[in-house]
Amino acid sequence: MNNLVIAIDGPAGAGKSTISKKISKKLGINYIDTGAMYRAITYKCLKEKIDILDEKKVIEICEKSEVDFIDNKIYLDGKSINDEIRMQIVSANVSNVAKIARVREIMVKKQREIGQKNDVILDGRDVGTCIFPNTKYKFYLNASPEERGKRRYLELKEKGENVVLEDIIKEIKKRDYIDSTRKVAPLTKAEDAIEVDSTNMSVDEVVNYIVKKVRES
Ligand code: C5P
Repeated sequence: MNNLVIAIDGPAGAGKSTISKKISKKLGINYIDTGAMYRAITYKCLKEKIDILDEKKVIEICEKSEVDFIDNKIYLDGKSINDEIRMQIVSANVSNVAKIARVREIMVKKQREIGQKNDVILDGRDVGTCIFPNTKYKFYLNASPEERGKRRYLELKEKGENVVLEDIIKEIKKRDYIDSTRKVAPLTKAEDAIEVDSTNMSVDEVVNYIVKKVRES
């Protein structure tokens, strides 16, 4: 594999997608939001009123769904669903979908296919540990749960969602817990990843830091 693969992992709300999008533009490479794929399946299950805890049903939905990226945007069965997958109801349920081994198997296969074809930056939980463990460019983006909650809260408010800050912080902590304690590909920093704490850094500071590290190595 000779193409450039940059892995950005970390907990919910650490700024991974904002930062990855900017880096993709700066370096002229593709951006894959791996979380959006789990969100897409979660959204479909909710829409079809499938019980998220019924693994068999969730797997059935996943196996018959077409999740794709076109121009760095997520599509489900041919339809753009960028806004729908950001809804709080999807965030609150996605970790229970993402912990299912068969769901991960299907998603990781797709993520590797996309990543092997192009220069790409991917953000998620297991990019550096599981999807592309051999890439040289691994970063683990972190920030305090309170700061991450505040960022998510402001984002959702801006979109007109009626949310309470304390609930968002609670939901983020719960998601971190499920993501980091699950059996398959739990959220953890890869040994060789560079950790970046963005609590007191601006978006541009983080972007410039990562781009500099990539160019140096
Ligand atoms: O990145 P984002 O917060 O949108 O991800 C939503 C959820 O998808 C995460 O909380 C996690 O449960 C799951 N996820 C994952 N592996 C990835 C990306 C996301 O399990 N690579």
